[in-house]
Amino acid sequence: MVVMENAGYQKLLQMVAYCQNVDRCRRSLMAVHFDEVWDNERCNQMCDTCCHEEGFVDITQHARQVVLIVEQAGSMNEKVTPLKLVETWMGRGPAKLRKMIQTTALSRLQAESVIVSLLLQGYLREDYSFTPYTTYFYMKLGRKAPLLKEKTHTINMNIRVRGTVSNRGANPFKTL
Ligand SMILES: [Zn+2]
Repeated sequence: MVVMENAGYQKLLQMVAYCQNVDRCRRSLMAVHFDEVWDNERCNQMCDTCCHEEGFVDITQHARQVVLIVEQAGSMNEKVTPLKLVETWMGRGPAKLRKMIQTTALSRLQAESVIVSLLLQGYLREDYSFTPYTTYFYMKLGRKAPLLKEKTHTINMNIRVRGTVSNRGANPFKTL
């Protein structure tokens, strides 16, 4: 189990960050990992991040909704798995919890990427519970969650703008 290994959890998060990455050249990230020297120019737009345009969106309001769900669940002594968190946020959770929260109009993919981004940025964290047969994985508030109580605090998330560099498209979050 990765969380029991020395630095295993950090490595797991790095892997998730690699998957979520939209702004750094894949080859340069690999070069860093293998301790090699790499000049970004040499990629010549051959990797998926270099050949796509990236931008960022403000996800503060989305983050407040997610944090509230985790808070409410905590106050009801309910444990929330990542799956349950997404479902609840999308309005498919348990009725008693649904009454106290605001559901999202984001697509499932967008909702999941916001939650992963909040995890990587420290607004959420995981909690594990172990049984002899399996390991349960729950979402808890991260060390940065209290910052959201401040009205001026904002959170951004890097996203890939639809299309390639030569074909700029619409920002999928902009309509929300
Ligand atoms: Zn590249």
